[in-house]
Amino acid sequence: MGMLICLNGKFVPKNKAVVSVFDHGLLYGDGVFEGIRSYNGRVFKLDEHIERLYDSAKALVMNIPVSKEKMKAEILLTLRKNKLKDAYIRVVVTRGPGDLGLNPTKCPKAFYFIIAASIALYPEEFYKKGLAVITVSTRRNIPEALSPKIKSLNYLNNIMAKIEANNYGVLEAIMLNREGYVAECTGDNIFMVSKGRLVTPPTSIGALEGITRDEVMKLAEGAGIRALEKTFTTYDMYVAEEAFLTGTAAEIIPVISVDGRKIGSGKPGPVTLSLIKKYRELTQSEGTEIY
Ligand code: PMP
Repeated sequence: MGMLICLNGKFVPKNKAVVSVFDHGLLYGDGVFEGIRSYNGRVFKLDEHIERLYDSAKALVMNIPVSKEKMKAEILLTLRKNKLKDAYIRVVVTRGPGDLGLNPTKCPKAFYFIIAASIALYPEEFYKKGLAVITVSTRRNIPEALSPKIKSLNYLNNIMAKIEANNYGVLEAIMLNREGYVAECTGDNIFMVSKGRLVTPPTSIGALEGITRDEVMKLAEGAGIRALEKTFTTYDMYVAEEAFLTGTAAEIIPVISVDGRKIGSGKPGPVTLSLIKKYRELTQSEGTEIY
């Protein structure tokens, strides 16, 4: 049996899962989404992802046509229909079909779909060896123009940065905010270990409120490591003891160099490795049961 996609609550085969060319998600990037993971038959942080999805939609005055409870039930059903235990789940809500103008009031009903697939992670070697990243010239969207807290279908800012990363042959790029402070990466939040403390930029300067970010700060505090939000520059990263990125898909991935400067020993550091271990234990033991 091939992959089944949940399209507005109905299950259709992959080749029948299509969106209208008049959908404003496609025409204008007018929509919201979530990337969610399931591990070992449990969906990790389902409530948190659903809250963020509905909050993003609310900020865009987009009415998701089903309740949060129904959306959760449909996510679980999509996993069951596809017989998945370990999966990457993509939930997308678009403004729906309208006319060719950008006015969202011309789109009577939001459109949604849920895809559950097997996961494409960074190859395991990067979790052991770490990633080299660079700072790119594309600045993160200014929060006054479009809040980076909204997980919208408008990822062009991040894609511009990803193109720069590709051009330099690295897998991720550090994006600065307009003032030149480190904001986040194209699809991940960023952390450094500095003077024994775990530091990440405040989301108010231009970063998504990452669900993994939040959990990692709690895990660090639980292990007696002070975790704080503080603005910092690339210089602070160059002289940090350790650095890593966090995201639902990437989990926690060590960073071993920034702009050609070796971070710490040039190998994933002890704080990073212990957080990876703790995070993996948590993902294997917590979450909403699928079956
Ligand atoms: N920042 C950006 C720009 C993202 O797209 C993501 C999610 N891929 C993250 C950070 C990490 O967020 P989360 O931990 O909630 O997946």
